[in-house]
Amino acid sequence: MLQLPVYLDNNATTPCDPRVLATMLPYFTEIYGNAASRSHPFGWAAEEAVDYAREQVAKLIGADSREMIFTSGATEAVNLAIKGVYDMYAGKGQHIITAVTEHKAVLDTCKHLEKKGAQITWLPVNREGFIDLAALEAAITPQTILISIMYANNETGVIQPIRAISDIARKHGVLFMTDATQAAGKIPVDVNKDGIDLLTLSAHKMYGPKGIGALYVRRRSPRVRLTAQIDGGGHERGIRSGTLNVPGIAGLGKAAEICREEMTADTARIAPMRDRLEKALLKLEQSYVNGSTIHRLPQTTNLSFKYVESEALIMGFNKTIALSTGSACTSASLEPSYVLKALGISDDLAHASLRFGLGRFTTDEQVDYAIRTVTEAVNKLRSTSPVWEMYKDGVDLDTIA
Ligand SMILES: *Cc1c(COP(=O)(O)O)cnc(C)c1O
Repeated sequence: MLQLPVYLDNNATTPCDPRVLATMLPYFTEIYGNAASRSHPFGWAAEEAVDYAREQVAKLIGADSREMIFTSGATEAVNLAIKGVYDMYAGKGQHIITAVTEHKAVLDTCKHLEKKGAQITWLPVNREGFIDLAALEAAITPQTILISIMYANNETGVIQPIRAISDIARKHGVLFMTDATQAAGKIPVDVNKDGIDLLTLSAHKMYGPKGIGALYVRRRSPRVRLTAQIDGGGHERGIRSGTLNVPGIAGLGKAAEICREEMTADTARIAPMRDRLEKALLKLEQSYVNGSTIHRLPQTTNLSFKYVESEALIMGFNKTIALSTGSACTSASLEPSYVLKALGISDDLAHASLRFGLGRFTTDEQVDYAIRTVTEAVNKLRSTSPVWEMYKDGVDLDTIA
């Protein structure tokens, strides 16, 4: 029996894997020590769990455990990385290069620094969602201290050419950071093969708990130094103070281990389901995929159904299918997604988009249900739409004002 609602919003957050939860539970009950308590077995047991998790997380991205700093999530890790580099490398310069399709964690942190005097280059992207490598290289100046480009986009799933970007950064002696929150645990990520100096990830995007994440900070060639953004007690080698979230860290570690071991099998199951969903929905007239379909996460598809308002569309099934639309609620109005707009997609098509984020627990039955429900809802809305009728009558709606 199909259980409703069907969850297809795994890019917003993933459910916690039961194996992750089971790993966490003892750290709420018997093993409740403070990992910083060096004087008794409660503290030792907590510290041991943290050390073990640090190895598990490091292994997922090919890092050394001494290069991992635990944070409250990717947003905090992004803040620590960008602000920490900005403060530490002020002597070299104040120029940071990033892209307009980054997550708000990166965009808002850069905007904050811009107000404080930083120069920020906001690279555009092309229709597929990629930055232009020549434009990236041309933007570098002697004052450039950081290039921050995300690994995979949360709305479209588009994967940037990370190795090519890091090659350019290396060539010019600029640090390269990547927000890998959507990529880590879903596709192979290796800080050495990929040439990454700083990387952020979050447990709740890879079947772990919310409120825990990590920052990778390269230790050699080059050794990256950061100014702490939270002081008090010197935890995490003085870079991120505060009592460690031991259950969360144990959960993140387990989540990372499961992803590393099962990534290939997960992808082999999820990618065909995503492709089947996409193919079936593209049978609807005037439907489009947003962003590259080649360099893309295996579990994401972002689709637009022209002449259909996605907010109205999901109204029809938001109690039975959990999805995100390409419209963001700002205080007074519905704004089209800035990511889709950056791809050159019109406001109309951005407002007509749905983001499907499949995951480890998605089933074929759920995909069948989504295909049927979305197809019916699109057809129903169009059947009562004057705009759709005009389109069917051959009126070219793009040329009339
Ligand atoms: C979810 C997400 C974040 C924020 O992570 P939190 O752990 O929720 O703070 C940052 N970047 C990307 C790409 C994300 O998808």
